[in-house]
Amino acid sequence: MKVLVTGGAGFIGSHTVVALYEAGFEPIIVDDFSNSDPQIIEGITAIIGKKPTVYQENCHSMDVLKSIFEKEQIEGVIHFAAFKAVGESMQKPLEYYDNNLGSLIVLLKCMLECGVKNLIFSSSCTVYGEPDALPVTEQTPVKPANSVYGNTQQIGEEILSDTVRSLEHQSLKVLSLRYFNPVGAHPSALIGELPRGVPNNLVPFMTQAAAGIRGALTIFGDDYPTPDGTCIRDYIHVMDLAEAHVAGFRYLMSHESPAIYDVVNVGTGSGVSVLELLQSFERINGLPVPYKIGPRREGDVVAVYADASKAEKMLCWKALRSIEDGLRDAWNWQKNTSKPE
Ligand code: UDP
Repeated sequence: MKVLVTGGAGFIGSHTVVALYEAGFEPIIVDDFSNSDPQIIEGITAIIGKKPTVYQENCHSMDVLKSIFEKEQIEGVIHFAAFKAVGESMQKPLEYYDNNLGSLIVLLKCMLECGVKNLIFSSSCTVYGEPDALPVTEQTPVKPANSVYGNTQQIGEEILSDTVRSLEHQSLKVLSLRYFNPVGAHPSALIGELPRGVPNNLVPFMTQAAAGIRGALTIFGDDYPTPDGTCIRDYIHVMDLAEAHVAGFRYLMSHESPAIYDVVNVGTGSGVSVLELLQSFERINGLPVPYKIGPRREGDVVAVYADASKAEKMLCWKALRSIEDGLRDAWNWQKNTSKPE
């Protein structure tokens, strides 16, 4: 059964490709490699023992997508392809709205025209903003986004729910998965996160700091109202997150109802502070991470972590790997990766 994975060479996409394959699906990758590397395809090939089908295309062209759908007899789509840098999104709002929402609209039109019924959409916990209560459930109110990127995810969710609601005679089943903070890499260390330039995210910066590539990690603020003063997040192993997509896809396939739109948190349910994460990294990998305390980063929320019970009930999925697994796999991947420029 073929599943189209847009952005399948990216961080979460590539791990999902592996998880799909291991679950018996045939992933078909569409990726324009604008923010990913062909080396990841080699890694996927080494893990699954065969070269996956890859289309080097972006998802903006109806004709391109349609011809792929017709050729491959696609059963459903997992849509990762999007720009995702918060800071950059504020500098280039039109590029972000155009790329992230334009490609979603083209994809949806194409799915409806070609009768492809199942879709999983990458959303994230940024939709909750600074929550009033923790952990966040799917009923926690969505707050106004504080970046263009965050807004593209919120609008993306709205486009999907409006479209499903509008259909009377056609079937479309959609899950928006709201990711918490993905970390780690495949345990083989053959695929992992490949940030371009200076990493924005905590764990890639931490592994590069530990490897002596970046100098000290700056912890953005230690005066937050948390036990150790640093921000709290829900760090989920990327293979757990990948497997949540497989579970979501199985859920959609096994439900006959013609119209589904639902949102599901994909996290571990545990909040971990930046300092706790750093100390775990040092303990599990047996080496120090140079760091300094810096000012707060604009736009950071104090604390967010998931109530992941809906995913367990609905998708029969829960995170199985520990934060230590994630930090060990992230470090093994770092050691296996050539030094960035
Ligand atoms: N963080 C940090 N230093 C860095 C990068 C991130 O202290 O170099 C902190 C950031 O302030 C936040 C947490 O690490 O509290 C996770 O940030 P990340 O950018 O990885 O994910 P976000 O939760 O912002 O999506």
